[in-house]
Amino acid sequence: MKIEWSDGISTSILLEKLRDECPCAMCKGEQIMGQTISLGMKMFAPGMNDLEKLVPVGNYGVQATWKDGHDTGIYPWKLLRQIAVQNALSDEQLANFMA
Ligand SMILES: [Zn+2]
Repeated sequence: MKIEWSDGISTSILLEKLRDECPCAMCKGEQIMGQTISLGMKMFAPGMNDLEKLVPVGNYGVQATWKDGHDTGIYPWKLLRQIAVQNALSDEQLANFMA
């Protein structure tokens, strides 16, 4: 997936990474008393790394709906940017990926 940012930067990342970083309670565990409790839901489901749609949520960020029906992950813009920058593919990687 390619993301174009309003400041002129564009980043390409694998959808897999985006799904990996899904910030919802089911994927990231619940914050209870300051501790992250993993709910152990990291199971592979068909279509889980395929993006169905991205819907903007006000000024807050975007809500991702995945082909496995998972749609509780809302990525604040800041997090999306962070994921995109940290997992950005180089042109070379991108070329290999497309090949
Ligand atoms: Zn999630």
